[in-house]
Amino acid sequence: MTSKEHTIVISPIGDLGIGGELLEHLAREIGLFFGYNTDIRPIIEEKDLTFDPIRKQVYSTTLLDILSIASPPEAVKLLAITKADLFIPIFTHVYGEAQLGGKACILSTYRFKDGLYPDAQTFLSRIVKEAIHELSHTFSLRHCRDAACVMHYCRSMKEVDRKSKQLCRYCAVLLRDEMERLSKLNAA
Ligand SMILES: [Zn+2]
Ligand SMILES: [Zn+2]
Repeated sequence: MTSKEHTIVISPIGDLGIGGELLEHLAREIGLFFGYNTDIRPIIEEKDLTFDPIRKQVYSTTLLDILSIASPPEAVKLLAITKADLFIPIFTHVYGEAQLGGKACILSTYRFKDGLYPDAQTFLSRIVKEAIHELSHTFSLRHCRDAACVMHYCRSMKEVDRKSKQLCRYCAVLLRDEMERLSKLNAA
């Protein structure tokens, strides 16, 4: 049974310049992967993004706080997507950030056109992989050493292109256990 409480909300921030079809494709992939309903719904606007005046990037941890407050109650998880470049102070940039075991995660498409073969298909496949990666963090999954596992931490687009959009067997068990735990919590 699916209900409103089992919805992953996918929230574009402003115009991503990638078209509605691509977002719908992403929503389908996420729905298939996690087995939840998906809903594409803007939560905050581009003008709500606060850019660091020196770095000209958005501090993703602060953005996550804003998103988790703005998140609708029926959203089991919230994935926001921006075309702005994200950073956390120890890194020059991040592709995304998630609240580990929390509700909100954020993904930036800014770097996904870098590297070899940045055609539409590759661009979309990078978004799908990193969206699944960030959402899996909200289901308490951590980084994985397996270079083919979607939970592998990638430093470059080359590494993103090399990994699959699937979990390794080890991470798949962790995700299943976490989902069972959540469904018991909801049933209680
Ligand atoms: Zn990660
Ligand atoms: Zn893994």
